[in-house]
Amino acid sequence: MRARIAAACARVGRSPSDVRLVAVTKGRSPDEVSALLAAGQRDLAENRVQAYRAVASAFPQPDLRWHLVGHLQRNKVRFCRGFALIHSLDSERLALALEAEGARHGHVFSSLVQLNVSGEASKYGLAPSELAPLLALVRDLVHVQVEGLMTMAPYDPDPERARPVFRALRALALGHGLEQLSMGMSGDLEVAVEEGATLVRVGTALFEPEPSLTTSAQPGSDSSTDT
Ligand SMILES: *Cc1c(COP(=O)(O)O)cnc(C)c1O
Repeated sequence: MRARIAAACARVGRSPSDVRLVAVTKGRSPDEVSALLAAGQRDLAENRVQAYRAVASAFPQPDLRWHLVGHLQRNKVRFCRGFALIHSLDSERLALALEAEGARHGHVFSSLVQLNVSGEASKYGLAPSELAPLLALVRDLVHVQVEGLMTMAPYDPDPERARPVFRALRALALGHGLEQLSMGMSGDLEVAVEEGATLVRVGTALFEPEPSLTTSAQPGSDSSTDT
């Protein structure tokens, strides 16, 4: 995976050290997580708070950096102080809930605003037009910091289809002076790195054989319309 990231960086003259590989452990066994740690991986992600609590208590190493990459409900913010980065800030109400929780504990939550750039109805995230008002609100908060933006591209077997989505996210980040870009997953991480990703969120490709070696359905696809 690091070689894939390095190759994508080389194509556009970026340094691989500017791209953080975040390993998504959702649904993985303790043995699989152990193997990641043995390989030196330290940035790990879950998409659900409940699952994070279970795996983080099984792997209490203090040097691990946990990321939340899935939708966060306001009633779960009290379990979130262990996250190094929350990739899924997607409402003013959530920002205010995090602010209140942070104030109670003297904790500052680092976060990314999740945007739904493609406008897919099935995706969480704010519309790009909602970004400026949220950033204006967060600017006045003391316990919530926005470091950048996150998005998920629509699933498509052709990763080039994700490029305009990633390019739009980078333009939005630049326009607001935000540095971190969480974009790119197993199927489209090279395109994301070429378009400026500073964090890639990878699950399947770290654990499963290359799609070209298998005849099973594409992982990550929930489409039943393929013929
Ligand atoms: C599961 C998940 C990933 C990783 O997806 P893969 O296709 O398995 O690499 C990345 N981001 C989010 C938000 C996820 O839920």
